[in-house]
Amino acid sequence: MLEIDLKGKKAFVAGIGDDRGYGWSIAKALAEAGAEIIIGTWAPIYNIFKTSWELGKFDQSRRLTDGSMMNPLDIYPMDASFDTPQEVPEKVRENKRYKACKNYTLSEVAASLARDFGSIDMLVHSLANAPEVKHSLLNTSRDGYLAAVSSSAYSFISLVKHCAPFMPKGGAVLSLTYIAAERAIPGYGGGMSSAKAALESDTRMLAWEVGRQYQLRVNTISAGALGSRAARAIGFIDAMIEYAHQNAPLQKALRADEVGHAGCFLLSPLASAITGVTLYVDNGLHAMGIAPNSPMLKRSSK
Ligand code: NAD
Repeated sequence: MLEIDLKGKKAFVAGIGDDRGYGWSIAKALAEAGAEIIIGTWAPIYNIFKTSWELGKFDQSRRLTDGSMMNPLDIYPMDASFDTPQEVPEKVRENKRYKACKNYTLSEVAASLARDFGSIDMLVHSLANAPEVKHSLLNTSRDGYLAAVSSSAYSFISLVKHCAPFMPKGGAVLSLTYIAAERAIPGYGGGMSSAKAALESDTRMLAWEVGRQYQLRVNTISAGALGSRAARAIGFIDAMIEYAHQNAPLQKALRADEVGHAGCFLLSPLASAITGVTLYVDNGLHAMGIAPNSPMLKRSSK
C-alpha cells in the first residue's frame, strides 16, 4: 500500500492563529502522517492562541483519526515583518503584546528551531498581511504596498534563507498563494495581489537556488477561497466562496483539509521530483475562462 509516512520528521508551520486556516489544516495532515509539528504564531495573538489552546478550545480539531491529539513540540511567537531585533521599531517593541514575547524576528525563530531541535525537515509559510488590503491597488500607499510584500512575500525568502542551512537534504518548503497573483480579482487590494505574484516567482527562483545549494524542494499551493480569519478581514470572502461554488468544475465546498492533504503530499517524499511548482487546489476554478453562471450567458442561450 502506498502511504505518506512522515514518522521521525519535523515540520515548522508558520502562520497558525486558530484552527480554521490553511496552516492548521496542513499541520494536521502532517501530524496524521506521523510528523512532529512546531507552530509559529503571530506575536500579537500569541498569548491569546496559547491560552485558547490550554483551555481546550481546539481539542476537537486537534483529534487525529487514530484518536490521539495533535500535540506540537512547541509554539513560537513570530513576526514575519522583521528579520532581526534591530529592525523592530520601538513602538512595536514597547507594545505590551510584543513585550510579552521573545525571539520573534525570523532570524531568531530560525535560531530557536536550530537550538531546540537541531534540524527541521519541512517548512510551511502560511501567512499573509496587508494593512491596506481594503484599498484598491491605485489607492494603496507606498508604505502599505511595501508592508504587504514585506510580510507576505519577503518573509518566505527570509524563512528559507535562515532555515535551509539546518534542513537535511530531501527536505521541503511550502507556501500558500492565491489566483490573484496571475488574474485580476477586484477587491484583493493593498498590494496583496503583488505580494502573491512575488511569492509565486520567488518559489521558482528559490527552487533553483536551494535545490542546487541544499537539495531542498520549494513549492506553493494556489488555494481556493476559505472563510479563514485572514480572509474575513478582506471582507468579501463569502461571495468568493459562493462564486467558486457556482462556477468551478467541481461544484462542492472546498474543505481546508483538501489543501492540507495536498500540502502534506508536496512536503512528503512522494513528491520528491516536484519543485518550483504552483499547484492549484481550488476545485478547478483556475481553469475557467468565463463564469458559467453569468446572466449574460443565460440570456444568449435563450
Ligand atoms: P489564517 O488567518 O489562518 O492565516 C493567516 C495567518 O497569518 C494568521 O495566523 C495571522 O496571525 C498570521 N499573520 C499575519 N501577519 C503576520 C505577521 N506579520 N507575522 C506572522 N504571522 C502573521 O488565514 P488563511 O486564509 O488560512 O491564510 C493562510 C495562507 O493562505 C495565506 O498566505 C493566505 O494568503 C493563503 N490563502 C488563503 C486563501 C483563503 O481564501 N483563505 C486563499 C488562497 C491563499
